[in-house]
Amino acid sequence: MTRSEDLFNRAKRVLPGGVNSPVRAYQSVGGCPRFIKKAEGTYVYDEEGKRYLDYIGSWGPMILGHNHSEIQKAVVEAAQNGLSFGTATEIEVEMGELLCNLVPCFDMVRMVNSGTEAVMSSIRAARGFTGRDKIIKFEGCYHGHFDALLVKAGSGVMTAGIPDSSGVPKGCAKDTLTAVYNDINSVRKLFEENPGQIAALIIEPAAANMGVVLPKEGFLQELRDICTKNGTLLIFDEVITGFRLGLAGAQGTYGVTPDLATFGKIIGGGMPVGCYGGRREIMEMIAPLGSIYQAGTLSGNPVAMAAGITELTILKEHPEIYRHLEKLGESFRSGVKEILRRHGKEYQITGTGSLSCLFFTDRPVANYEDAKTSDVQAFAEYFHYMLDHGIHLAPSQFEAIFFNNAMKQEDVDLTLEVMDSFFSFHRKV
Ligand code: PMP
Repeated sequence: MTRSEDLFNRAKRVLPGGVNSPVRAYQSVGGCPRFIKKAEGTYVYDEEGKRYLDYIGSWGPMILGHNHSEIQKAVVEAAQNGLSFGTATEIEVEMGELLCNLVPCFDMVRMVNSGTEAVMSSIRAARGFTGRDKIIKFEGCYHGHFDALLVKAGSGVMTAGIPDSSGVPKGCAKDTLTAVYNDINSVRKLFEENPGQIAALIIEPAAANMGVVLPKEGFLQELRDICTKNGTLLIFDEVITGFRLGLAGAQGTYGVTPDLATFGKIIGGGMPVGCYGGRREIMEMIAPLGSIYQAGTLSGNPVAMAAGITELTILKEHPEIYRHLEKLGESFRSGVKEILRRHGKEYQITGTGSLSCLFFTDRPVANYEDAKTSDVQAFAEYFHYMLDHGIHLAPSQFEAIFFNNAMKQEDVDLTLEVMDSFFSFHRKV
């Protein structure tokens, strides 16, 4: 028995499924998750010391590579002054200024501790501001495990085949309307059926929780227009796209400014951090200024702020990082296309910049229904082959893989080589 197997058995006795977040349990691919002991640069090391080229990157935060020396140093220095005060601190002001400077839609921002918390609070802000209850989300988009948004959701719930979680009261989900990603008519219909009642429309501006599905040209602008026309707030959930597609997030990349946006992952540099922010008149309704209540004991935690500010500052001062990531991503995607062509496979390789996904389906993927046509069994075989050859991918067809700045072209070449050998020797898939 390996040490990971031993730990997994122990874990299953005390943690549901042996994990603290479902996708980690390898539920859809089977087998035993690798228990990771340490990480450095582009590698993670399991409990037996085996090294893997890591494409999970803590599901996004590790855009600079693991255990970056400057972030580690900032965390240690901040910790020397105390771990948490529960009072106002200078470092929170610095983070607020940095974010408001970089994110187009941010006049003001509130720090929280996770992406889920950020989204939950942004929905409350939108409802409080508009005085309306209904919200629109898209099938296959995941916005955290908040009751009102666990409706036809992506990520782990899609992987587990339970996109509507039990335990969500009907009352909580009844005001959540779902539209089809990339289908503006499905959105128009909801606005027509619910005139004057929709507080917010929330979207992953590039969807990365049903695999990676990009918005069609003009789709985000059409959403912007329909929201403005109806007095509905447009919320971009940038928990994945924020500081990954570029310094101004997806709103900068696609040139569409939402009313509110949520961030997480990268802004914490690996510490538990999220934030939501947007137009001043909305954010001025948040307590203590206004009547929309939202609070947090550890929000703006000084050690977490130190990690996040350091990561964001490095990204801001080194624009070449995004160029490098873009190059790696493009070279990966064109390499995969070539492999698929050579092996006569019609599978879909999607992505942008440092986000990618290989869908095991012949059907071009523009939405949730398309993504669901993927052969998850074939994906599981591919996943295990890659893992056995030292490549650590997200253990689900419906997740993205993430490139990081510590990666080099040789790493991409190696990944493509292993992938090529998988398609050469695994004739079943
Ligand atoms: N929104 C999006 C787009 C996400 O991808 C995630 C998590 N993957 C969340 C929200 C929830 O964030 P967290 O897991 O930090 O609660």
